[in-house]
Amino acid sequence: MNVPDPAPVARPAPASSPDELDVPFWEACTRGEFLLFRCGVCGRHYWPAGCCVEHGWAPMEWVASSGRGTVHTYTVFERQYHPAFVPPYAVVVVRLDEGPFFHTNIVDCAPEDLRVGVAVEVTFEGGDGRPMPFFRPIDGGSPIPGSKASRAQGRITRGEPS
Ligand SMILES: [Zn+2]
Repeated sequence: MNVPDPAPVARPAPASSPDELDVPFWEACTRGEFLLFRCGVCGRHYWPAGCCVEHGWAPMEWVASSGRGTVHTYTVFERQYHPAFVPPYAVVVVRLDEGPFFHTNIVDCAPEDLRVGVAVEVTFEGGDGRPMPFFRPIDGGSPIPGSKASRAQGRITRGEPS
């Protein structure tokens, strides 16, 4: 059965409404800084802000992060569901180097070139005084050595059983 595309909806891009606890994160984005919430006892990083799974609320603090991670998983949207989001585009889950997962979009990379395991870094884009954190591939977007993606592409085996 062939389903026609839905008629475009005339409304602006969705606005974010940060949780009060995450306000420092969004303020840092306007300065080009990518922060994570860290437990002062065990050093575990969190996003979004929340209590530590082992130490509760005290003492938690916002700290600078590396702004780097790897593509954990993604999906490519090829149909337009919102006028502000023109397909094709990828919705990506990045596993940050500090541990937390971060939902985002990839820039500077065509959706068909995206792979699980690609090393990425944060970049900030967006007008109206509210930059949003996106991620872009590092070093041309090659999957990190030893990742599932690199093995699947046959680039690197690192002596693992075939
Ligand atoms: Zn902790």
